[in-house]
Amino acid sequence: MALLINNACTACDACEPVCPNEAISVGDPIYIIDAFKCTECVGAEDEPQCRLVCPEDDCIVENPDFVESEDELQQKYDMLNG
Ligand code: SF4
Ligand code: SF4
Repeated sequence: MALLINNACTACDACEPVCPNEAISVGDPIYIIDAFKCTECVGAEDEPQCRLVCPEDDCIVENPDFVESEDELQQKYDMLNG
């Protein structure tokens, strides 16, 4: 499951530097997660790093259009970093 940034985003820039997959980019007005690059941090970290640093509640949520299993997320990570 890739994650998604919603309208609660204040463009604070905390999340962009911590993403291991460089999946987050500066958008206008809110930041954007590239669902093809987000692995929910599977492969790199124990939990989603963007969620850890985001100061807003319920701002980074699951992307319903990218439902993926843990195994699929690991494969995605390996493809990105292969
Ligand atoms: Fe990047 Fe991890 Fe957040 Fe996905 S969950 S956007 S891989 S920091
Ligand atoms: Fe937006 Fe949260 Fe990222 Fe800040 S950390 S830019 S509020 S998604």
